[in-house]
Amino acid sequence: MIAFENVTKKYENDQVAVKAINLEINKGEFLVLIGPSGCGKTTLLKMINRLIHLTEGTIRINGKRISDYNIHELRWNIGYVLQQIALFPHMTIEENIAVVPELKKWSKPQIQQRVRELLNMVGLEPDKYSQRKPKELSGGEQQRVGVVRALAADPEIILMDEPFSALDPISRTKLQDDLLELQQTIQKTIVFVSHDMQEALKLGDRICVMKDGEIVQLGTPHEIIQNPVNDFVREFVGIKEFGTFHIQAVIEPIADEVHQRNRENTISSKDSLHTILQKLAHDECLGVEQNGKIIGVVTRASMLQYLAQDSLERGNING
Ligand code: ADP
Ligand code: MG
Repeated sequence: MIAFENVTKKYENDQVAVKAINLEINKGEFLVLIGPSGCGKTTLLKMINRLIHLTEGTIRINGKRISDYNIHELRWNIGYVLQQIALFPHMTIEENIAVVPELKKWSKPQIQQRVRELLNMVGLEPDKYSQRKPKELSGGEQQRVGVVRALAADPEIILMDEPFSALDPISRTKLQDDLLELQQTIQKTIVFVSHDMQEALKLGDRICVMKDGEIVQLGTPHEIIQNPVNDFVREFVGIKEFGTFHIQAVIEPIADEVHQRNRENTISSKDSLHTILQKLAHDECLGVEQNGKIIGVVTRASMLQYLAQDSLERGNING
């Protein structure tokens, strides 16, 4: 559907923002681009609809080079949602959503019908909202309009650049849920930029982890969690190393019989949290070995309790 072949972007100041990227995005796929600020996500995204011109390489959509498309045809068939709520302030919600259908010269009744349908899709009652101005809507409502505006002319591809990151956590969660539900029906090819791994894991069919203009890892959420290719990805996913993980928070004293039982099922103090979790998936209780001595046990229950508390504190889950 969208294919990057050795795509490089060098800005005028010789800043290489994207380095020889090869990437294929499938039809109907929800791909999340993730990585720290400045790693080239926005640049990669904006090259797809030619808002930024690539320096080297080729991008193809359905096999055809993007440079061979008429620019209007290309832009109108790619929906685009930005982080900053970018509705036209002087226009009504209906007029905002109708921009591209009007450019495409749809009939008035057809446009009105489409606006109603879209507003209903995201739970904004058309009679209540269509004649309002953007400032009469909350941030979350405005961003809903931003999403459906991108869908208005039924494009095949939707590009979303951190669309929910300016919203409060509750609105953000709600919009993520709604987008997932919407995608079940619309089955668009979505390229979604995020810097939040929890969001990426929740939304993506695949996640593309970037660093310094390059792809570090591309895989399903499961693959990224189970087999992070290096420490960078591991840290990004949020699985901490043993060093920062407090064994004291989970260790329990050894009862004699448990001690015996755990002679084979032990972890070492050098094991990563990841390894411990994998071993706990097989054994309910593990002995903790340090300098050749069993110093205590870790149980599945104590670990689950620790992880629950930890994600609560880090805001990964809601209380
Ligand atoms: P991200 O979206 O991942 O935060 P960007 O794609 O916006 O990253 O930027 C990638 C790199 O390119 C950054 O180092 C940024 O400073 C640089 N950059 C972005 N836009 C321009 C520009 N117009 N001119 C020069 N450098 C730019
Ligand atoms: Mg960006």
